[in-house]
Amino acid sequence: MPFSHDMVYSLATAVDLLNTSPAAGGDEGLTSVEDLRTFVGRRVISDVENLDDRDLVEVRELRDEFYEVFTAPDRETAVSLLNTLLGRTRITPSLAEHDGFSLHIHYFAPGASLAEHLAADCGVALAHVLVEDERDRLRTCAAPDCAHVFVDESRNRSRVYCDSRTCGNRMHVAAYRARRRA
Ligand SMILES: [Zn+2]
Ligand SMILES: [Zn+2]
Repeated sequence: MPFSHDMVYSLATAVDLLNTSPAAGGDEGLTSVEDLRTFVGRRVISDVENLDDRDLVEVRELRDEFYEVFTAPDRETAVSLLNTLLGRTRITPSLAEHDGFSLHIHYFAPGASLAEHLAADCGVALAHVLVEDERDRLRTCAAPDCAHVFVDESRNRSRVYCDSRTCGNRMHVAAYRARRRA
């Protein structure tokens, strides 16, 4: 992918966030502030102060907005939605090196709430996807009973399942059985 390692990381954070949404086919993955803390820990999101119920509400709202961008029917819609989101987000680039990560760029402003932090960093990463005209890499899993989103990082843009070990494997087994029956 034509993206720097920190962009790839932020896109993976966006994907992780989106897949906590009921829109991605499962149960609500962010039911409590504790769930939010787990997410922050899992993605090693830095500079996060005390989280409360307001953060939970804000992050869920942001998640809905990102979902709309991610699954937008066309480029124009994606650009317009992302511009709205970025337009209300304070963005302050700075270089950082922490938690074993190599030098990377933070976009969130000092003192940003978790939602604003994610809006800045994941928002900029998604903006780069649009700029590089790589929107077709933003995918939804092709398995009929799965709606997880993912970013196709494969060279030939051939990935169709959110996870080859679970959905991919499951679908291959189903196809194999169907062939045997035929
Ligand atoms: Zn960082
Ligand atoms: Zn899947």
